[in-house]
Amino acid sequence: MRIFFWLYPLLMLLMTACSEGSESKNSPDNEKKLQDSLSKINQIVEPDTSSLAWKLEQQGLVDILTVDSSVRLDIKYSTDDNFLNEDVYGDYDACYLQKEVAEQLLRADSFLKAEHPDLRLLIHDCVRPRSVQYQMWEIVKGTDQQKYVAAPGGSGSMHNYGAAVDLSLIHKDTGVVDMGTPFDFFGKLAQPRYEDGFVKTGELTQAQVDNRRVLRWAMIQAGFHGILSEWWHFNAFPRDSVKKWYTIVE
Ligand SMILES: [Zn+2]
Repeated sequence: MRIFFWLYPLLMLLMTACSEGSESKNSPDNEKKLQDSLSKINQIVEPDTSSLAWKLEQQGLVDILTVDSSVRLDIKYSTDDNFLNEDVYGDYDACYLQKEVAEQLLRADSFLKAEHPDLRLLIHDCVRPRSVQYQMWEIVKGTDQQKYVAAPGGSGSMHNYGAAVDLSLIHKDTGVVDMGTPFDFFGKLAQPRYEDGFVKTGELTQAQVDNRRVLRWAMIQAGFHGILSEWWHFNAFPRDSVKKWYTIVE
């Protein structure tokens, strides 16, 4: 949609140039206007082949907003508001997933909206190329945070395949829903396996845990699997299937 928004004024300019051209075909001014308009359009529609988004599209991944325009994005690694305190995505500020995973996320969003019309999925991370994983490793290596980043090598994380998503919920009036901890909070309080105990000790409220359950319910209904250590992380399919079906995004 965004590209059409930008193209519209240029198309109008082109149409004007064309219609003026038909009145006086040989006018050099009109010919110049037409050529200018065409070159501006070419500049816009030609993809930036150095961009990460373009590379992901070449590998068959899809932009979630082309599948489900109602989800919200807050891509934390494209800001310095993350546990690394560093922007490791640069210009890339999107959520790309394998097509089947994006369609599954659309189903989760439909389940959520049917039961909770004021809530939307708030996406923090989708595919994460392995090159970014290496970059993260270099930042945390030798620090206290090293244990929170998967070491390079090995068979890769589900994010590297575009088959996992990190997300929360946002309410249309009151904003980001309280899940008891922020995204990427590395501590037991963020771990679903300890939730009931933390409600008993008062470290989490029942409402916070219920909010997590709303998210989990929508995701699981759609076919995702949660994990015991992070309330925000969901895998689309079992690891064996993912490794069979997809290749790692480098
Ligand atoms: Zn994750």
